[in-house]
Amino acid sequence: MSDPMNVLAPEHRRLRIGDAWRDAASGATFVVEDPATGKTIAEVADAGVVDGLAALDVASKALAEWAATPPRKRSELLAATYRALTERSEEVARLITLEMGKPLAEARGEVAYGAEFFRWFAEEAVRVEGRYNTAPAGGYRILTVPKPVGPCVFVTPWNFPLAMGARKIAPALAAGCTTITKPAAQTPLTMLFLARIMEEVGVPPGVVNVVTTKRAGEVVSALLADRRTRKLSFTGSTEVGRVLLRQAADNVLRTSMELGGNAALIVCADADLDVALDGAMVAKMRNIGESCIAANRIYVEEPVREEFTARFAERMGALSVGHGLDDGVDVGALIDEASVAKIDELVADAVDRGARVLVGGERPDGPGHFYPPTVLVDVPEDARMLEAEIFGPVAPIISFTSDDEVMAKANDTEHGLVGYVFTRDLQRALRFTEGLETGMVGINRGLISDPSAPFGGVKQSGIGKEGSHEGILEYLDVTYAAIDLP
Ligand code: NAP
Repeated sequence: MSDPMNVLAPEHRRLRIGDAWRDAASGATFVVEDPATGKTIAEVADAGVVDGLAALDVASKALAEWAATPPRKRSELLAATYRALTERSEEVARLITLEMGKPLAEARGEVAYGAEFFRWFAEEAVRVEGRYNTAPAGGYRILTVPKPVGPCVFVTPWNFPLAMGARKIAPALAAGCTTITKPAAQTPLTMLFLARIMEEVGVPPGVVNVVTTKRAGEVVSALLADRRTRKLSFTGSTEVGRVLLRQAADNVLRTSMELGGNAALIVCADADLDVALDGAMVAKMRNIGESCIAANRIYVEEPVREEFTARFAERMGALSVGHGLDDGVDVGALIDEASVAKIDELVADAVDRGARVLVGGERPDGPGHFYPPTVLVDVPEDARMLEAEIFGPVAPIISFTSDDEVMAKANDTEHGLVGYVFTRDLQRALRFTEGLETGMVGINRGLISDPSAPFGGVKQSGIGKEGSHEGILEYLDVTYAAIDLP
């Protein structure tokens, strides 16, 4: 197979601002590495504040025309993006694997998932509606007029280089907003490729801008401090989310925050264990465990603990680790050395406190940022991995004996993104759905991401929803008109 980098010509490894692909004003660049080898794969422009503000300038100027573009036309451009991404799925997937490390099959899944946001919001673009009704006391009418919020700043993480941007850009464009996306420094190439695709299908200049930078702090804070910015949508860690919320407060920006998670996956004794095992494998190992909705803690009811644990450990131990572009690889490289070191420390901490390693647990020698699929049992309550986001292929298994006990443990975290429950008892499933303090629940399913469903967390996992009908509302303001009509 050819070099995946061939799909992104050198002139497109630069800032996408308005109708131009340009170098940073300073001329600075930074390198992007393949996490599986540590080798440099590309150099991209390293934007400074002046470049970020140039992008905001064109996004602001493009707003009026884009907002006034007929919804059907905007819809067609989104649909064309969906088709282009789908047709070029293999190229996009290989680029994702190269810069992020996930196995190619998973990258293909991400392209299908990311593209689907464009199809979904192509359909939503033509269904934005207001209301007209008689005021309850009579005498006048109430009219609501939805309007695009304005230029949006998007800050995205490295773990889904396409989908996390698609989830913001598609609804924003559907609503009539213009955008500036700052992708993660470790994975900027996929977002540049998306901008290129959107240029090719005819999205007007200034509507989709991409600013790559190693200086996220200064560039993003300058954007958030500028009164022309009207909205921030951020996906990333809770820690950075808090910082950005503070900055957004000064300008009273609308915000959507998709932050970290600490999902509990609960396997009840009455569950279909085959279904629970499949679900746990997906919930833990999708994206090498580098997912905000990854199962961070696996609670298994005592009567099935032994059987579940043995079968789960067997499946985890059978996974093959390697370069994501190689055939037959289930588990690719983690994003960087810091990530591997953090996971290694969390495992060592759990073992020091009494946990036992059933599978994995030792980082391999050699190049690339690899960590093997790992299963731990007898994990004590004070192990740090039960509180921290593991963000890797490590599964702690903990037993439980009552629903009240496991519900309390599941909720004992600052996060509230998702929970998973495996049971054949409908009432039990509904009690967990009502009792878990999360924005989402997977019932007998380990895969919940779906562009047609409202994705988002509560507590310190975030504010707002992405996908579904709710997703477009994040990009619409409502003007209410009172109309005198005695
Ligand atoms: P991160 O460190 O918070 O970084 C996310 C983005 O924020 C990157 O683009 C990063 O730029 C930028 N950033 C970092 N510091 C900044 C600052 N001071 N000002 C402005 N921007 C800043 O998160 P990550 O490690 O990339 O991603 C993993 C995290 O994302 C996990 O916590 C995961 O749970 C969360 N996540 C949540 C969801 C969800 O939907 N809830 C989905 C996916 C991931 P640089 O790359 O230059 O550092």
